[in-house]
Amino acid sequence: MPRIRQKRRVLLPPKMEGFKPFGMSRCKVGQIALTYEEYEAIRLSDYQGLTQAEAAEQMGVSRPTFTRIYEHARKVVASALIEGKTLLIGGGDFESDTYWYRCCACKQVNTSDEPAPYCQSCRSKDLKLLHDPSNDTNVSTLLCYHDLRIYVTNKGEMIMKIAIPTRANVVDDHFGHCEYYTLVSVDENNNIIAQENLQAPQGCGCKSNIAGVLQEMGVTVMLAGNMGQGALNKLSSHNIKVFRGCSGEVKQVVSDFIAGKITDSGMGCNAHHGAHDHQCSHHE
Ligand SMILES: [Zn+2]
Ligand SMILES: [Zn+2]
Ligand SMILES: [Zn+2]
Repeated sequence: MPRIRQKRRVLLPPKMEGFKPFGMSRCKVGQIALTYEEYEAIRLSDYQGLTQAEAAEQMGVSRPTFTRIYEHARKVVASALIEGKTLLIGGGDFESDTYWYRCCACKQVNTSDEPAPYCQSCRSKDLKLLHDPSNDTNVSTLLCYHDLRIYVTNKGEMIMKIAIPTRANVVDDHFGHCEYYTLVSVDENNNIIAQENLQAPQGCGCKSNIAGVLQEMGVTVMLAGNMGQGALNKLSSHNIKVFRGCSGEVKQVVSDFIAGKITDSGMGCNAHHGAHDHQCSHHE
């Protein structure tokens, strides 16, 4: 029998996706993740002033488990504060009774017992699901960071998955006709932690559902050569941000991207999804 894991109950989502330091050089800003249950531990203990025993009971975990969550939470917050890191709140291994959404239009957090068709405060239908009570395990959350979308996993790890249309180890100019896709996973310290190849679909990729396949695999960034508006729109609609104008060896392109040397060659910032909070001076 598998060991039954203690449930870590989180009452409500935080209002924000995270915190950014200011008054320092933005290029030096790193990032760190606080999981939802770590946020909850700080809320119960430091904000509400519960004893650790009371907080543990509220979260439905043993006292030692609570202490472990709480101490790690403090370490994460301290490291953001001292080192000047952006704190992203998301992901985690927890349960909550309600559906959580963030409205992409007004940024309001919505919670409800049933799936919500629109935002309770502005009626926008552009809602991003943060938590589904029918699927509590292994929650990973998609967050925006400097315009890029990063997954925070249930362990609080931040992963960005990049796809590169490839032919013979070189970026293929036409993403729909490439030989295969090189998929690269990058962690929060910009280390490449995994690399794999995904066979391109037969025939013209423009007509296939490759964008949907990549999205399901967790891809949020594509480094491509030239790309038409149609393909670009299709990838964007699957939450994949495309950097056009990349060329040369795949390995070099990835390391240039990680070093922040790559910007999209053909897209102005007003073409972004308007709801994504970012400051464009950094990547223009
Ligand atoms: Zn709204
Ligand atoms: Zn094509
Ligand atoms: Zn931008």
